[in-house]
Amino acid sequence: MEKTLVVIKPDGVQRTLIGEIIRRYENSGLKLIAIKMLVPTPAMVEKHYLVNPEWIKNVGEKSIASYKNKGEQPPFKTSAECGQAVLARLKKYMSAGPVVAMIWEGSKAVGIVRKITGGTEPLSSDVGTIRGDYTIDSYDLSDSADRAIRNLVHASGSVEEAEKEITLWFKKDELIEYNLVLEKILYDVNLDEILE
Ligand code: GDP
Ligand code: MG
Repeated sequence: MEKTLVVIKPDGVQRTLIGEIIRRYENSGLKLIAIKMLVPTPAMVEKHYLVNPEWIKNVGEKSIASYKNKGEQPPFKTSAECGQAVLARLKKYMSAGPVVAMIWEGSKAVGIVRKITGGTEPLSSDVGTIRGDYTIDSYDLSDSADRAIRNLVHASGSVEEAEKEITLWFKKDELIEYNLVLEKILYDVNLDEILE
C-alpha cells in the first residue's frame, strides 16, 4: 500500500471545487486517511518543494522547454535560475489563501493520484483529469504575468516525494488507520464473503 499527499491549492478552494476534487479521488477506490485546511506560510511552501533536491533543476528544465515551445527566449540561462524563479512564484501562489491538505492511501496510490490529477499545464493536460476538466491556465498566460501556473491541486510525484511531503504536512497522530468496506472488493483474494 502507498500513501500520497494531495493539496487543493488556493485557486481550487476559491473556485469552490473542494467537493468535486475529493469526489474524483474518492470514487477511484483510494482511502482518505487524513485531511485538514490551513494557510501555508511561504517558508512552508519552500520546504515543501525542496523536499526533492532535484526539483529546482527539473522544474527549471520544464520551464525553459515551455518558453522554447512558444518560440520565446527563456528569461534565465540556467535551469537552476529558472527553477528558483518558479519557486518564488509558487511561494506567493500557495500562501495566498487556505488550502486543503489530504493523504490518500491504496495500492499504487501515487501513480493513480497523478493520473486522476493530470499533467502540470491545464491547457495540455488530458480531458477527464482534474486539471484538464476544471481550469484553463497555460504557461503562456502564467509566464507572461510572471506567476505560477494555477492548476488547482498538488499531488506527490513519487513514493519518495510522498513520504517526505507527508512528514512535512502532517503529524503522525493526524493519520487515521481504519478499514473501508470497499477494500474487501478491491483487495480480497477470493471474494468469498459476499454470498451467505
Ligand atoms: P506538478 O508535480 O505537476 O505539480 O509540477 P511540478 O512539481 O513540476 O511544479 C510544481 C508547480 O509549479 C506546478 O504545479 C505549477 O503550479 C508550477 N510550475 C511548474 N512549472 C512551471 C512553469 O514552467 N511556469 C510556471 N509559471 N509555473 C510552473
Ligand atoms: Mg511536483
